[in-house]
This record gives sequence, structure tokens and C-alpha cells, in this order.
Amino acid sequence: MTTKLYLDGAWTDAGAGGTRDVISPHDQRVIATVAEGDADDATTAVLAARRAFDTGPWRTTTAKARGEVVRAIGDLVVEHLDEFARRETLDTGKPLADSVTDMHDIASVFHYYAGVADAHGGRVVDAPSPDVVSRVQREPVGVCTQISPWNYPLLQASWKLAPALAAGNTVVVKPSEQTPLTTLYLVELIDEHLDLPPGVVNLVLGAGAAVGQPLTSHPAVDLVSFTGGVATGRRIMAEAAATVKKIALELGGKNPNIVFADVDLDVAADHALTAVFLHAGQVCSAGARLLVQDEVHDALVQRIVDRLPEITLGDGFVDGVRSGPLISAEHRDKVESYVAIGLEEGANLAAGGSRPDDPALADGFYYLPTVFTDCTSKMRIVQEEVFGPVLTVERFRDEEQAVALANDTIYGLAAAVWTDDVSRAQRVANALRCGTVWINDFHPYFPQAEWGGYKQSGFGRELGVAGFEEYTETKHVYQNLRPGSAGWL
Ligand code: NAD
Repeated sequence: MTTKLYLDGAWTDAGAGGTRDVISPHDQRVIATVAEGDADDATTAVLAARRAFDTGPWRTTTAKARGEVVRAIGDLVVEHLDEFARRETLDTGKPLADSVTDMHDIASVFHYYAGVADAHGGRVVDAPSPDVVSRVQREPVGVCTQISPWNYPLLQASWKLAPALAAGNTVVVKPSEQTPLTTLYLVELIDEHLDLPPGVVNLVLGAGAAVGQPLTSHPAVDLVSFTGGVATGRRIMAEAAATVKKIALELGGKNPNIVFADVDLDVAADHALTAVFLHAGQVCSAGARLLVQDEVHDALVQRIVDRLPEITLGDGFVDGVRSGPLISAEHRDKVESYVAIGLEEGANLAAGGSRPDDPALADGFYYLPTVFTDCTSKMRIVQEEVFGPVLTVERFRDEEQAVALANDTIYGLAAAVWTDDVSRAQRVANALRCGTVWINDFHPYFPQAEWGGYKQSGFGRELGVAGFEEYTETKHVYQNLRPGSAGWL
């Protein structure tokens, strides 16, 4: 297994010799020891990407050829899917079947952007004179640094890498220090199988505090794409401001799942469970706020609580396990502190609220699926992202109140509305201030449709055509076919 930094087309140890043990969240085993870079390594990566962009052939390679490279990366993911999935489960603890799904999604992202690469070159503009030719063309932005989180390590990296390469940029990829294995493996396969010029793809490993500053503030960087927490996003925005970089921020969410009384409650309960407890709630779009119409509140909550024992916690490599651990001891501490806050605030603990007592899970960072009822939108447990298996339930009276409650957080990433009334579904979808709205479903996404946040969930879009355009500049080229007097003097 390659464990080094990839700088300017070569595998290298961290300059200062640093290493980091990567820990399994299931049992705290050391699963790999990888290089731990510092600011000097990150600067080396940025300068390599700068050189490759300014002097190398990549930027001027045809869009079709770039698309073929991006397609080949997708093919590599498919060919090595089992190993990718194994590493993702080792790193994150998520069930192997979920990692397999992620890998199929990742391959689809590369295959989608392979087709987008040569489909958005620009357009000819209807100029103000017949003696003018005017066109608007799309060009790569330049050096892009791409910082991703630990919950969907390779998936989040692929949303950035695929469009950036398709558009002709050079990149410095920085996975979370907690989950670097699949990003390392992808870069290893790119290095082995594809003939990319040195410096087009660089990989920096290390903690955000150690390697973050050059990635977000070095003058040679043109664009920073970040997925992670809101607090880090604010810091990165400030760092990038001094040199006025383009930035895209995919931040957290506190996503409302609104259930009206006219739906099939078994179906709504089934999806409400997946919405919040998938990957132990460590999903940016998790449906962590359940809003239920008064008439069906008790019946829906009962159905959810009754089904909690079906969520088998355990080793992601064991068949039948539906949920793995939280990512780290620190993160479980955070989740536990939010449960304590919920209790202090007067929410009613309807289920969970503790670590499991199964001795087989004692070495992992497990936490039971937890449900709070009697919640109000003033509570911190309702307003703040817990990023764990904690569901808060609020009641609403009517459509107007449901929308007002749903919009009442600083976040705006995703939401769902459940109703059999098609007009109401559309009205509510239009009124919700967030980047994705599901009607009678929760969680599906695909590469053709844009993803991103309103409000403090961030800005910029990933996926879809907009996810490609983030990585392009727009240039207007105007040519006068009959140059003569300017007509001013
Ligand atoms: P985080 O903000 O702690 O870290 C994310 C990444 O940023 C990591 O690679 C980390 O090393 C790096 N980083 C930390 N400090 C940095 C700095 N000062 N400069 C540069 N890089 C720095 O987030 P996390 O805990 O890894 O991820 C969880 C968060 O990610 C949640 O809030 C979740 O909602 C969010 N998320 C959002 C989306 C989305 O699409 N909107 C998707 C997945 C996760």
C-alpha cells in the first residue's frame, strides 16, 4: 500500500519525516501508517501544480483527450472496486455494502464528467455589428486545491477531482487525515496506469492545521474547493480572501424531513430511519430534524422507535451489519455532549442516548441510534449539526408552520417533504431555502444534478454542469474584422 505524498509526479516521504497512524474506528487497530506532511510539503505541491499549469501541456490538451483521462479514472475505480470498498470500510467503519455503493457512485461521477469535458467549450455571441466576431469561451481556472472530509472520503474527493481535470486544471488533493486510504489508492492507480504530466495531480497528506495554510492562502493557488465543517469553512474563506481566490464551500447541514398526515406512515418511517441513521448519521444531508404533522406524530414516532433494533451495529465487514461506529473518540464525545445538551434543554429521550453495551463493540466508537421528541426550534440540539445518530422530532400544525420551522436554522443544504398532495409538495419545495429538496424520498443524488448549500451550508455547486463550470473561467474574445478609426478623436 502506498503511504506517501505524491508531489510533482513522484512518491515522497514528508519533508520533515512525519508519519501518522490511521486508526480503525471499529476497534482502534492501526490500519496504516502514512506520511504526515507539513506546510513546506503543501507549498511544494502547490508550486508543482502551478508549474504544470503554466508550462505543461495539460491545460492545452484537447477537451476530448481530457475527457478520456477522466473516463479512464472511472474505469480504474470499477476495475479495483473491491479493494477500494475494502479500504473505505477499514478507514470509516461503514458497512462494506455501503462502501461498494459509494464506489459505484464515484465511478459514475468520473464517467459523467468524461462526457461533460468537451460539451461546454463556449458559444458564439450575436455581436453588435456584422464586422465583429465575438465568442465566449470556457478556460480552466488554474491551480485548484481540494480539501475533503472523512465521512465520504473518496466520494467527496471525486466530486472535485473529476470536473477539475475535465476542465483542464491542475490539482492538489488533500483528504482528511483520518481517512486517507482510498484517495491514496486512487492516486496510486492514476500514477501507475495513466500518462499524466507531472504536477497535474498532487496529493498532500496531513492535518488541516499543518498543511492547510499554503493550500488556502498561497498566491499560486487560484481556487480552493472545500468540503467540511462550517467553522473550518469560515477560516478557509478568510484565508483565501487576501489573494481573492475563487472558493467553493460545501459545509454542514441540519436537514428537515417534513411529514404531512396524508402519507403512508410505514413508508415515511422507513425513510426517516435511513435519512438520519445511514452511516451513523455522519452524512451532511442527514435528515436529523423530523417535522411531523400533529395528527400522525405519535404513530410515526412509534413506528420509528419500534424499528430501531433492526439497525445492527458492528464491524462493517460482517454481513447484516447496518451501521458502523463514529469516526473517532473525539467525535463520539461531541455526539455525547449534544445528547446531554438535549436532555438539559428538556427534550424527551425516546430511545438510545448511550453507547451500546455489547462487549464486542467496546473498543470501537459506537453510539446507539437516539431519538428525542418534544423538541422545539429554539433548542441547540435542533439548531446545531450533531453529525451523529441523533434524531430530533418536532410537531407542526399546517403547511405554513412546517415551512417556517424547516427554514429556521443557519443551514440550507437539503430537505424532504412527504405528502400525497402534489400541489402542496411543489409549494413546500419552492418555499424551502436549501440546495436539494426530495419529495417523497430521502438521500438520492446523482452526478447529473447539482449539489450544494444555501445560507451557511456554503456556496458554489458540485455535480452537474455547474459543478464543471466552477472549475472554469469565462473569457469573452472580441474581434473587429474591419479595424479603422476609433471615432472618438
Ligand atoms: P473538518 O472541517 O474538520 O475537516 C474537513 C477537511 O478540512 C479535512 O481534510 C481537514 O484536515 C481539513 N482542514 C481542517 N482545518 C483546516 C484548515 N484550517 N485549512 C485547511 N484545511 C483544513 O470537517 P470533517 O469533520 O472532516 O467533516 C465533517 C463535516 O463535513 C460536517 O460538518 C459535514 O456536514 C461536512 N460535509 C459536507 C458535505 C456537503 O456536501 N455539504 C459533504 C460531506 C461532509
